[in-house]
Amino acid sequence: MKTTVLVVGAGPAGSCTAREIARAGLDVLAIDRREEIGFPVQCGEFIPIADELRRILPGSEAYGDLFEIPPGIVERETRYIDLYGPRGSSFSIKFNGLTVDRRRFDKEIWRRAEKEGARLSTGVEFQGLENSGSANTSAGKIGFDVIVGADGPLSRVRRALSLDAPKSISQAITAQAAGDWGDRVSMYFGPVAPGGYAWIIPKRETANVGLGVQKVMSSLPLTELLRLFQEKHDIECGETTYGQVPISGPIKKTVRGNGLLVGDAAGQVMATNGGGIPIAMICGRIAGRCISSALRGGPDLGAYETEWRRQVYRPLRNAARTKAIADRFLSGDLRLELAMKMLRSRGLERAILCKRLFYLF
Ligand SMILES: Cc1cc2nc3c(=O)[nH]c(=O)nc-3n(C[C@H](O)[C@H](O)[C@H](O)COP(=O)(O)OP(=O)(O)OC[C@H]3O[C@@H](n4cnc5c(N)ncnc54)[C@H](O)[C@@H]3O)c2cc1C
Repeated sequence: MKTTVLVVGAGPAGSCTAREIARAGLDVLAIDRREEIGFPVQCGEFIPIADELRRILPGSEAYGDLFEIPPGIVERETRYIDLYGPRGSSFSIKFNGLTVDRRRFDKEIWRRAEKEGARLSTGVEFQGLENSGSANTSAGKIGFDVIVGADGPLSRVRRALSLDAPKSISQAITAQAAGDWGDRVSMYFGPVAPGGYAWIIPKRETANVGLGVQKVMSSLPLTELLRLFQEKHDIECGETTYGQVPISGPIKKTVRGNGLLVGDAAGQVMATNGGGIPIAMICGRIAGRCISSALRGGPDLGAYETEWRRQVYRPLRNAARTKAIADRFLSGDLRLELAMKMLRSRGLERAILCKRLFYLF
């Protein structure tokens, strides 16, 4: 089998990349090891509305129609984020977001690529590179001119291209709880989720309940932490799913030869809150445009590295620095509580918006 561009992973990053390439009239094939796009859901399912995104990522020029999400996929509009410290403090931040049905969301993002002519093979796993123009997959060899690693935090394409992995990857667990949970997103910090946070994110008739932790900071397994959190908040959850989130900011280099990385594979995540869906989509669009231009005789793939860094790197770097400082200095309950009290809602809002926390760094 042969394609001009092989996209590994049909999550938000891969689908948005494939869409732009197909839109430019080029041949693009996406493969995904999942049998069903978007399932199982390993996500909190929360995204900021487009106006909030513009506050977080003011340099991005790649919005367009990316965040026009059909009403059936939006589960609920949320108005506030409430943050809870380990010793009883709480802060409310006005922040408009949406919760989505991620299973349907990922399918919708792929559908947009398919409409432009992109092809998809599900149930096909990338296993490694045969050489710089051929991939080994569970469905045999696939030849390509350009390969895109949009295969998530544990990217095998990244490994095959010998690009660096993120320094820190958090482990997360999530489940659904029935009921009406209002329109406020809640985030809980402290021993409830060492090195991360626990969340309750309201959906239409359920809430997404979960937590993310750093293994090195936690002595309890994720399931036990979630059980304790549920017990404390009197929540009954259904089945759990697990996932990973890169939380050390973007990796140093995202392009090598005729390959590039996008989304979680490149560490393009807001490290302070683990949000990666919108950045994956924006960087996917940038990647798709740069690849199309390179294949049509424009600047080489290195333009992708320059362009995504120009548009979104700074907020991602700020968030990674804030997260690193919090991990280093705020691991104790008391220190964390005091820091939250010192920052107050205004400082915490800056952290959510991926702004520099202090003017010192
Ligand atoms: C528990 C949890 C909660 C989260 N909550 C939120 C949230 O509320 N809001 C938010 O914005 N972000 C959240 N995130 C992060 C968000 O899910 C990711 O940032 C986002 O999905 C990144 O998109 P992506 O396309 O880069 O990767 P993914 O969505 O991970 O897609 C990667 C795709 O590649 C496929 N794949 C992987 N390896 C291979 C292979 N070898 N061969 C073929 N296919 C492969 C996978 O099957 C998958 O479909 C959360 C993450 C977790 C784990």
